[in-house]
Amino acid sequence: MTEESRTFGYLCPECGKAVIASRDPFTLAASDAAIECDCGGAVLRTRYDGVRYHITVPCGLCGGTHTAVCPPERMLRGATALACAKTGQFSCFIGPAGTVEQKMKELSILAEKERQDGGENAFVDNVIMYEILSELKDIASRPDGITCQCGCRQWKMRVRRSAVDLICPDCGGRLRIPAATDRDLDDLCCHMKLTIPRAKA
Ligand SMILES: [Zn+2]
Ligand SMILES: [Zn+2]
Ligand SMILES: [Zn+2]
Repeated sequence: MTEESRTFGYLCPECGKAVIASRDPFTLAASDAAIECDCGGAVLRTRYDGVRYHITVPCGLCGGTHTAVCPPERMLRGATALACAKTGQFSCFIGPAGTVEQKMKELSILAEKERQDGGENAFVDNVIMYEILSELKDIASRPDGITCQCGCRQWKMRVRRSAVDLICPDCGGRLRIPAATDRDLDDLCCHMKLTIPRAKA
């Protein structure tokens, strides 16, 4: 019997790394599997009770641990994904190596994005950020106060920890306004208008 080996992938909640490892189906049926992150901070476990597989997965999205029960068809064939109960996103993948690697790449990008969003309210300097945002409001209230080189007069704002990005919805051009020090504020105050550089095609 030659069965394709199964690849498991999850994000380590401790260090944020993608943990990917393979086990052959025979081993999965014969003994419990433990797939540990290099950092030692997380381990995925599988247990076969003779009927179904019980899987315990550390979750890189919510930081918790989830358990799932899978019949052998689902565990040993095709590709399957386990969802995080808190975020509703898939946080663990089981399947052929290529599929799991691809899915893990997407998951890493998603997790990175959520980390950045989560940090949105933690500014390097709250007072400076507040001043920068109100100055931007003043600039935006002037006729053509904020425009893009491409001719677009609309813009979107993204607030980061130490900067504000003005983004052109048309061409994707981006102007980063540092918002961490007094000097950043002085710099912004010299501008009557702001121009977003056109995104390079
Ligand atoms: Zn780790
Ligand atoms: Zn979760
Ligand atoms: Zn533009």
